Amino acid sequence: MSTVLKVDHIEKYFGNKGNTTKAIDQISFEVERGEFVGIMGPSGSGKTTLLNCISTIDSVTTGKILINEQDITKLKTGKLDQFRRDELGFIFQDFNLLDTLTAFENIAIALTIQGRKPADITFLVKEVAEKLEITQVLNKFPYQMSGGQKQRVAAARAIVTDPTLILADEPTGALDSKSSRLLLDSFEKLNEELQATILMVTHDAFTASYAKRILFIKDGQIFNELIRGKDTRKE
Ligand code: ADP
Ligand code: ADP
Repeated sequence: MSTVLKVDHIEKYFGNKGNTTKAIDQISFEVERGEFVGIMGPSGSGKTTLLNCISTIDSVTTGKILINEQDITKLKTGKLDQFRRDELGFIFQDFNLLDTLTAFENIAIALTIQGRKPADITFLVKEVAEKLEITQVLNKFPYQMSGGQKQRVAAARAIVTDPTLILADEPTGALDSKSSRLLLDSFEKLNEELQATILMVTHDAFTASYAKRILFIKDGQIFNELIRGKDTRKE
């Protein structure tokens, strides 16, 4: 197996002298290719900060983060956008779809920016849409879709470029339980059938239970780890 992500003794402080918050306190872990890892913890435990450091949105105070053996804490600002575009896929709580584009166009946009051929783009978008069961909404705009459909479109957008790592931040946060289930079933499919490597943070136990390995975080530290057996998922 190859290591996709290595988080190596990172710390993250916010604020300035005399008024600092230690959002991350010595976190280390690795993710292998093809894993589906959940990070679970209560509000304020450091989940978003951790994800933001991995996605290069925040900088770490100390420590290293290697993605595909490249230390992203050393990447120059000019290289970050391209690195994110080529290596990472993002899924956010609030979908982040572009309102003026159809589902197809939203999914296709990263491929377009990469300069892929139109015929390839159409093929790839349709292929991933079938997997996520959103073929019937490809010509719709976000306002014409349900929350669950929008989030599956966002998942399709994240996977279509075949990124090294997919980062999901509270992906079910804005969904009802039925849509959450459908989305998490899609994540399972992306992971098992397309070998997508997924790192998902959530405060929700049901959502976390879909991950095959769960790291528990509190006060900026990992305090426990659970590796899921085949049938330990709560129904
Ligand atoms: P979670 O995602 O688990 O809710 P966060 O990563 O958002 O936790 O926050 C972890 C801690 O860091 C909290 O105490 C939060 O208030 C603090 N924090 C997060 N972002 C900032 C920031 N930009 N400035 C100051 N403090 C922050
Ligand atoms: P969540 O709980 O969904 O992780 P939060 O509400 O904790 O999200 O944080 C939302 C955003 O606000 C994050 O980008 C985080 O970095 C920022 N943030 C959180 N706490 C603070 C804080 N005390 N000061 C400034 N920014 C903060």
